[in-house]
Amino acid sequence: MIRVIAFDLDDTLWDVHPVIVRAEAILAEWLEKEVPGYQYEQSKLLPIRKALLSEDPTLMHRLTAFRQRLIETSLMSHLDEPNAASHAEGAMEVFLTARNEVEFFEGALDTLKNIAQNFQLGAITNGNADIYRLGLNDCFSFAFSAEQVGAPKPAPDLFHAALAHTGCEPAQMIYVGDDPVKDVDAANAVGLHTIWMRSKDKPDKGESNPDETIDDIRALPDAIRKLVDR
Ligand SMILES: [Mg+2]
Repeated sequence: MIRVIAFDLDDTLWDVHPVIVRAEAILAEWLEKEVPGYQYEQSKLLPIRKALLSEDPTLMHRLTAFRQRLIETSLMSHLDEPNAASHAEGAMEVFLTARNEVEFFEGALDTLKNIAQNFQLGAITNGNADIYRLGLNDCFSFAFSAEQVGAPKPAPDLFHAALAHTGCEPAQMIYVGDDPVKDVDAANAVGLHTIWMRSKDKPDKGESNPDETIDDIRALPDAIRKLVDR
């Protein structure tokens, strides 16, 4: 019996690209106002990114820590270390606020509320979207991120964490995601049911077949019903 529906967040419940572009712009504006003379430019950040990653490759999936270290290091051209650190902390708060101001796909919130009446919902994400900042904590009862668990999808760790948390067998959980490999193949490998939210950007399936495929989040309740009835 299916008890839990877990969701990928970015590109499954909203388009993430415009969110990040906007959050980057808000971050740049804030930093440039707070630190006169400093410019937040991708060309300057690139060599710092490379240096930080070669020093600590785990930063690749620790997106919040990575971004904060990146800002802090780049600020050290204009500020002493304690000032760079405190400004980087403030900047990260500004970025995270903006990064969680998303435009949900049409009907997504109603769909989630509807499903939450019959199932436990949760988030399993590689990114730093946050169910509390998003206001999803009303209908989501758990969230696991790659940063928290230590390994990004397609590694099984995040799914195992959600199974342990909910006390579910894999066959009692459905995973809904847009990425054919990191979401569908990865969740299938752990034995979860999968619903693929197919997007125009990633129209090709991965190695394995999703149990159901949808092109609009509003089709989710029907797809879940088919799996429950199967
Ligand atoms: Mg996604």
